[in-house]
Amino acid sequence: MQKQPTEIASCADCPFKNADRFCIALDGKHPENCPTANQGDMVAQALKEYEKPQIRDFAREASVQEGAGYGDRDKGYACVRAIKPRILEIAEFARRMNYTRLGLIFCAGLVREGKVVAEFYRSKGFEVASVLCKVGQVPKETIGILDAQKIAIGRHETMCNPIGQAMLMNKAGTQFNILLGLCVGHDSMVFKYSAAPCTVLAAKDRVFGHNPLAAVYTMDSYYRYLKQPLD
Ligand code: SF4
Repeated sequence: MQKQPTEIASCADCPFKNADRFCIALDGKHPENCPTANQGDMVAQALKEYEKPQIRDFAREASVQEGAGYGDRDKGYACVRAIKPRILEIAEFARRMNYTRLGLIFCAGLVREGKVVAEFYRSKGFEVASVLCKVGQVPKETIGILDAQKIAIGRHETMCNPIGQAMLMNKAGTQFNILLGLCVGHDSMVFKYSAAPCTVLAAKDRVFGHNPLAAVYTMDSYYRYLKQPLD
């Protein structure tokens, strides 16, 4: 493994188990390039942001929601168990934040799911604006896609329009946007152009039924080919 310079955080390579990590345990251990040990200035800069009232409220409610996701906390840490699916956590968090209008930004490959999800949040008392990735019927050629790069070669293919999705939600005045199954990169553009904070209900994975971690779980066995270099 290549050694990283100390100013580049590399927590993924931290050799200690969670309970012994410096960032978690007050008397914990850390590797040489540990950002908790070496980059106090960045931590202080981040803490400054939490002093802003709106940011502080958002962060606090997210952490309250995190805790509420566990049951049996009164029985001790060894007994706690996860009790809330993400779809419900999003509704509870939105209610904590007093949001009334949600945006559902979803993929054409998940129209059935989009319908169910919109109905779910409406049933919890929210207004839901929703927008499909293909909004605008803009041909892929507009952004320089060649015919050979389309999925359906030789035909009109509408491009995904994440900027349009974000702008429509901005216009609708949504307070919290929920992404459902957007493509890699299209999701990034929604994050960039959305006025409201965004969360992800499901990340697209066409092979693993929108559970990208299945690739991680099976990378040492059936999906070992994933370890081959990129073409
Ligand atoms: S102890 Fe330091 S290096 Fe290890 S996970 Fe925590 S912050 Fe990262």
